[in-house]
Amino acid sequence: MSTPPHSFPDFSDLARSLILLKNKLDQRTKDFEKDVQEIRQYYSPRAKFERWKATEDGKMWKEKQHKRQRGCCASCSFVIQVKGSHIDHVQPLSKFPELATCVKNLRLLCPDCNTRKGSNDCKRTA
Ligand SMILES: [Zn+2]
Repeated sequence: MSTPPHSFPDFSDLARSLILLKNKLDQRTKDFEKDVQEIRQYYSPRAKFERWKATEDGKMWKEKQHKRQRGCCASCSFVIQVKGSHIDHVQPLSKFPELATCVKNLRLLCPDCNTRKGSNDCKRTA
Protein backbone atom coordinates (compact mmCIF):
# COMPACT_ATOMS: atom_id res chain seq x y z
CA MET A 1 0.00 0.00 0.00
CA SER A 2 1.41 3.29 -1.10
CA THR A 3 0.50 6.84 -0.14
CA PRO A 4 -0.06 9.37 -2.88
CA PRO A 5 2.96 11.50 -3.56
CA HIS A 6 1.02 14.67 -2.96
CA SER A 7 -2.07 15.25 -0.90
CA PHE A 8 -4.32 18.04 -2.03
CA PRO A 9 -6.25 20.00 0.52
CA ASP A 10 -10.03 19.77 0.31
CA PHE A 11 -11.33 23.08 -0.98
CA SER A 12 -15.01 22.18 -0.83
CA ASP A 13 -15.55 23.89 2.55
CA LEU A 14 -13.80 26.99 1.30
CA ALA A 15 -15.89 26.98 -1.88
CA ARG A 16 -19.10 26.66 0.14
CA SER A 17 -18.03 29.55 2.38
CA LEU A 18 -17.22 31.71 -0.60
CA ILE A 19 -20.59 31.03 -2.20
CA LEU A 20 -22.38 31.92 1.05
CA LEU A 21 -20.32 35.08 1.33
CA LYS A 22 -21.09 36.04 -2.26
CA ASN A 23 -24.82 35.52 -1.66
CA LYS A 24 -24.68 37.71 1.45
CA LEU A 25 -22.79 40.38 -0.47
CA ASP A 26 -25.32 40.28 -3.31
CA GLN A 27 -28.16 40.73 -0.82
CA ARG A 28 -26.38 43.63 0.91
CA THR A 29 -25.77 45.27 -2.45
CA LYS A 30 -29.45 44.91 -3.31
CA ASP A 31 -30.47 46.42 0.05
CA PHE A 32 -27.98 49.24 -0.43
CA GLU A 33 -29.27 50.03 -3.93
CA LYS A 34 -32.81 50.09 -2.57
CA ASP A 35 -31.75 52.56 0.15
CA VAL A 36 -30.01 54.75 -2.42
CA GLN A 37 -33.17 54.73 -4.53
CA GLU A 38 -35.30 55.78 -1.53
CA ILE A 39 -32.88 58.55 -0.58
CA ARG A 40 -32.81 59.81 -4.19
CA GLN A 41 -36.60 59.74 -4.25
CA TYR A 42 -36.84 61.65 -0.95
CA TYR A 43 -34.55 64.41 -2.18
CA SER A 44 -35.95 64.57 -5.70
CA PRO A 45 -37.26 67.99 -6.78
CA ARG A 46 -40.77 66.56 -7.13
CA ALA A 47 -40.77 65.16 -3.59
CA LYS A 48 -39.30 68.39 -2.23
CA PHE A 49 -42.09 70.33 -3.95
CA GLU A 50 -44.80 67.94 -2.71
CA ARG A 51 -43.54 68.31 0.88
CA TRP A 52 -43.50 72.10 0.58
CA LYS A 53 -47.02 72.08 -0.91
CA ALA A 54 -48.30 70.24 2.17
CA THR A 55 -46.78 72.72 4.65
CA GLU A 56 -48.65 75.73 6.04
CA ASP A 57 -46.42 77.95 3.87
CA GLY A 58 -47.40 76.00 0.80
CA LYS A 59 -51.09 76.11 1.61
CA MET A 60 -50.95 79.83 2.39
CA TRP A 61 -49.08 80.52 -0.82
CA LYS A 62 -51.82 78.76 -2.77
CA GLU A 63 -54.56 80.81 -1.10
CA LYS A 64 -52.69 84.07 -1.75
CA GLN A 65 -51.82 83.10 -5.32
CA HIS A 66 -55.47 82.29 -5.97
CA LYS A 67 -56.32 85.86 -4.90
CA ARG A 68 -53.45 87.33 -6.93
CA GLN A 69 -54.80 85.54 -10.00
CA ARG A 70 -58.33 86.75 -9.11
CA GLY A 71 -59.55 83.16 -8.90
CA CYS A 72 -58.68 82.39 -12.51
CA CYS A 73 -56.43 79.92 -14.29
CA ALA A 74 -53.20 81.67 -15.28
CA SER A 75 -53.40 80.16 -18.74
CA CYS A 76 -57.02 80.11 -19.94
CA SER A 77 -58.57 82.48 -17.35
CA PHE A 78 -61.20 79.89 -16.49
CA VAL A 79 -62.58 80.36 -12.96
CA ILE A 80 -60.86 77.95 -10.57
CA GLN A 81 -61.27 77.03 -6.93
CA VAL A 82 -58.27 76.91 -4.60
CA LYS A 83 -58.87 73.26 -3.87
CA GLY A 84 -59.17 71.97 -7.43
CA SER A 85 -56.45 74.14 -8.94
CA HIS A 86 -53.03 72.79 -9.84
CA ILE A 87 -49.75 74.43 -8.95
CA ASP A 88 -47.74 74.75 -12.13
CA HIS A 89 -44.02 75.27 -12.51
CA VAL A 90 -43.66 77.95 -15.18
CA GLN A 91 -40.13 76.73 -15.86
CA PRO A 92 -40.66 72.96 -15.84
CA LEU A 93 -39.43 71.02 -12.87
CA SER A 94 -37.72 68.48 -15.11
CA LYS A 95 -35.49 71.15 -16.64
CA PHE A 96 -35.15 73.47 -13.64
CA PRO A 97 -35.10 71.25 -10.53
CA GLU A 98 -33.52 74.07 -8.53
CA LEU A 99 -36.77 76.02 -8.92
CA ALA A 100 -38.86 73.27 -7.29
CA THR A 101 -40.14 75.52 -4.49
CA CYS A 102 -39.29 78.95 -5.89
CA VAL A 103 -42.64 80.75 -5.61
CA LYS A 104 -41.72 83.12 -8.45
CA ASN A 105 -41.78 80.08 -10.69
CA LEU A 106 -45.21 78.92 -9.54
CA ARG A 107 -48.71 79.72 -10.71
CA LEU A 108 -52.14 78.16 -10.51
CA LEU A 109 -53.71 76.46 -13.48
CA CYS A 110 -56.97 74.66 -14.02
CA PRO A 111 -56.46 70.88 -14.23
CA ASP A 112 -57.04 70.89 -18.01
CA CYS A 113 -54.32 73.47 -18.70
CA ASN A 114 -51.87 71.78 -16.38
CA THR A 115 -52.43 68.38 -17.97
CA ARG A 116 -52.16 69.88 -21.44
CA LYS A 117 -48.98 71.80 -20.63
CA GLY A 118 -46.64 68.91 -19.86
CA SER A 119 -43.01 69.79 -19.24
CA ASN A 120 -42.04 71.20 -22.65
CA ASP A 121 -44.13 74.33 -22.64
CA CYS A 122 -42.23 77.07 -20.84
CA LYS A 123 -44.30 80.03 -21.97
CA ARG A 124 -45.47 82.35 -19.25
CA THR A 125 -48.99 83.59 -19.59
CA ALA A 126 -49.49 84.87 -16.08
ZN1 LIG B 1 -56.83 76.76 -17.67
